Amino acid sequence: TPPAVSPAAIPIDPVPPLHAGRKAAIALHIVVVGAGLGGLAATHTLAHAGHRVTLLEAASAIGDVGAGIQVSPNATRLLQRWGLASALQKSAVCPEAIVFRRYDTGERVGYTRWGSTMARDYGAPYYHIHRADYHAMLLRLAQAAPGVQIRLGASVVDVQPDPNAQGGPSVTLASGEVVHADLIVAADGVKSRLQAVVIGREAAPRPTGDAAYRATVPTELMMQDPELREFVETPDMTAWMAPGRHLMAYCIRGKKEYNLVLLHPDDGSVESWTADGSAEKMRADFADFEPRVKKLLSFVDSTLKWRLMDRSPLPTWVHPKGRLVLLGDACHPMLPYRAQGAAMAIEDAAVLGNLLSRISAKEQLPGFLHAYQEIRYTRASEVQSSSRLNQHIFHLPDGPEQRARDAAMRDAMAAEFD
Ligand code: FAD
Repeated sequence: TPPAVSPAAIPIDPVPPLHAGRKAAIALHIVVVGAGLGGLAATHTLAHAGHRVTLLEAASAIGDVGAGIQVSPNATRLLQRWGLASALQKSAVCPEAIVFRRYDTGERVGYTRWGSTMARDYGAPYYHIHRADYHAMLLRLAQAAPGVQIRLGASVVDVQPDPNAQGGPSVTLASGEVVHADLIVAADGVKSRLQAVVIGREAAPRPTGDAAYRATVPTELMMQDPELREFVETPDMTAWMAPGRHLMAYCIRGKKEYNLVLLHPDDGSVESWTADGSAEKMRADFADFEPRVKKLLSFVDSTLKWRLMDRSPLPTWVHPKGRLVLLGDACHPMLPYRAQGAAMAIEDAAVLGNLLSRISAKEQLPGFLHAYQEIRYTRASEVQSSSRLNQHIFHLPDGPEQRARDAAMRDAMAAEFD
């Protein structure tokens, strides 16, 4: 039996290059559950590591979700290495700066230059993209990878993680079909059903107290208004901060759409990508924002609403039998207040694929999976908790703490323009 791999024995690059031509000495059959951004990325990296991958997705179609998403350089860097540089450039917008404003007056309290400084300081651009375009890009990658089978309408209802069970580890689909695998990667999102199997008990994600409205506005409407035009002509990301709420806004799709994410106290929404919210209620909830925001919201015909959930860091991401592992929101769901949820899932996929390109016997799987957890756990957990911290910082009530926050931001802004 080859020795189990100790994490300490593995050369670790936190964003390891893939496509270095390294294929594992044995080809495993890996089932990935969930074709979200994390599952698609993992399908790509694991297939390129030399494994046969079956991707199972409950939905019958990988559909268009009407909202934008931020792709920070840590994610862009990996996407570029996976050959997506020009696809990103074509469909994403590169913001020049992030601007923080006071909600009621619109006064600019903070400004940080992004644009080309991102590539200089972090090795890759910051992008804003439509989720549907991001999904489509990763779906194409997964489809193009060797030895990949993607099955839609394949809802996993049960899992057998024991390698000593008859036929080895398996998942059972709603249809009753059993799919056997050497390894099961659970990328089944914040409501992950496989997570309970990994940690050995049910643990529901916790409501964060906030919910998000999401909507897009055609920028041609904004271009007709002298007060709104600047948000399109200079594609900065703008954050309006208010007590208990904030609004993030940025251009997507070649600056043809303006994406709005409106964060506010949860008043009974559901956790879903597709639940409709009321545009009227949204306007009422943000009625005390500056006149330009009111104008922007008047252009919104329909909005989606999403209850924001997260979890405390889990005790483990790896099932004790070493054949079932969690990835993405299934193990570290977080508030979107650092725009890192999908980026962390992309990093997870890169690390897992890289590690499993080094495997030479199935018995090494537990060691490799623990190495994956070892490499990823602290970073992902820290981002989970700093996203919670941003909830506090963005939503400070009027008062001394808020004034101190704004004074610090003004100082930093002055330094930007020195
Ligand atoms: P998901 O995208 O949830 O995918 C899970 C998949 O598994 C789904 O397709 C689901 O249908 C499938 N599935 C579930 N159960 C089963 C089953 N039993 N059988 C088969 N399939 C199953 N992140 C960023 O990086 N940048 C941002 O700007 C950003 N903004 C955000 C804004 C908002 C308002 C929210 C809510 C989140 C934001 N995020 C952002 C976070 C990001 O969207 C998530 O972290 C990311 O989508 C998680 O991807 P995932 O693949 O882990 O899970």
